[in-house]
Amino acid sequence: MSGTSDFTPSRRALLTGAGALAGITIASGVTLISTGPAGAVTGPATSKNRWGLLIDSNKCDAGCDECVVACKAENGWDGHNRPETDPQWIRKVNLKDNKTGATHSLPVMCQHCENPPCVDVCPTGASMKRADGIVLVDKHVCIGCRYCMMACPYKARSFVHEDITGQKQYMPRGKGTVESCTLCVYRIDEGGIPACVEACTEKAGRGAMTFGDLNDPQSDIAKDLAKRATTRLRADLGLAPGVHYQGL
Ligand code: SF4
Ligand code: SF4
Repeated sequence: MSGTSDFTPSRRALLTGAGALAGITIASGVTLISTGPAGAVTGPATSKNRWGLLIDSNKCDAGCDECVVACKAENGWDGHNRPETDPQWIRKVNLKDNKTGATHSLPVMCQHCENPPCVDVCPTGASMKRADGIVLVDKHVCIGCRYCMMACPYKARSFVHEDITGQKQYMPRGKGTVESCTLCVYRIDEGGIPACVEACTEKAGRGAMTFGDLNDPQSDIAKDLAKRATTRLRADLGLAPGVHYQGL
């Protein structure tokens, strides 16, 4: 899949979570709350954390889509050979710099914006940001109006057109609702890392994706951001994404 480059350099910034929601319900009887590394419940998500990703396009190969494969398997979504309307939580995008001819390949998913327009436009509150910066859709409150899809400049959200089979218990989906990357929130709440990040290292052997707490100066991601030149896609929009890129 090809796309056009449209990004501006970002300023290094430690982000602070500002969402009002702490524990949220994404399915009947299922409430997302923070847990410790061993999975023990420690309390609701708080603004103490700001979860994010750093993606090094220098390590990402155009021929590799292990992150996409892993996300599909993990979250139970797939296409129906209808690219215009198929779900797309994460996609590979190939960029070409028209001035230098340099090419880049990178995964693009929900950027988990600090100031998410998808949340601003949602008339029901289904589109929400947790206190730790993770942006989610509550499928039980979503009415499928798709305002959020129009508001998202990253085309990160999908509408579920088809009947759903093979749902995962931990990630319920719903026909007629909108969905997008959750940062594998259920994994994070158990002290784990997103499936795409895991696959990039373990399946692809590339280690192009780093996950961690942007608020913790001792985290690998914060240290890398402090010493490397990085970019956020369309930083000029002021949405302050939690996803950062290197090598663009
Ligand atoms: Fe919302 Fe799109 Fe930003 Fe994700 S990338 S938080 S869907 S505006
Ligand atoms: Fe998919 Fe999880 Fe990666 Fe988001 S963080 S793109 S939901 S695998």
